[in-house]
Amino acid sequence: MFYIHCPYCGELREEEEFHPKGQAHIARPADPTACTDEEWGDYLFFRDNPRGIHHELWVHAVGCRKFFNITRHTVSYEILETFKMGEQPSFTTEHPQGGSAESATRQAQDALQAGVHA
Ligand SMILES: [Zn+2]
Repeated sequence: MFYIHCPYCGELREEEEFHPKGQAHIARPADPTACTDEEWGDYLFFRDNPRGIHHELWVHAVGCRKFFNITRHTVSYEILETFKMGEQPSFTTEHPQGGSAESATRQAQDALQAGVHA
């Protein structure tokens, strides 16, 4: 079992309270009737499958029931950060070590691990 930091509840909760909902930051076309079949098919069915940094949409299904984003490393499975809808990730493929400000999630997870191993 592992823990996920819910950015709305502001605390680490058991993974069983959460459900993944797929790739994050997929914008619905502004005018679907103007899309070609290929563009609409890409929007509906095709998702990135990167090796490394990946942004995912999750929901705190058994908690506050809010959607939020997780930045996860697909090789190590490490959750690098969680952030609210509308916020920008500090970990990206261009900045794999994160932004200048360390996220609250990272600090909370480090604190938890320190407590577990103490
Ligand atoms: Zn929550």
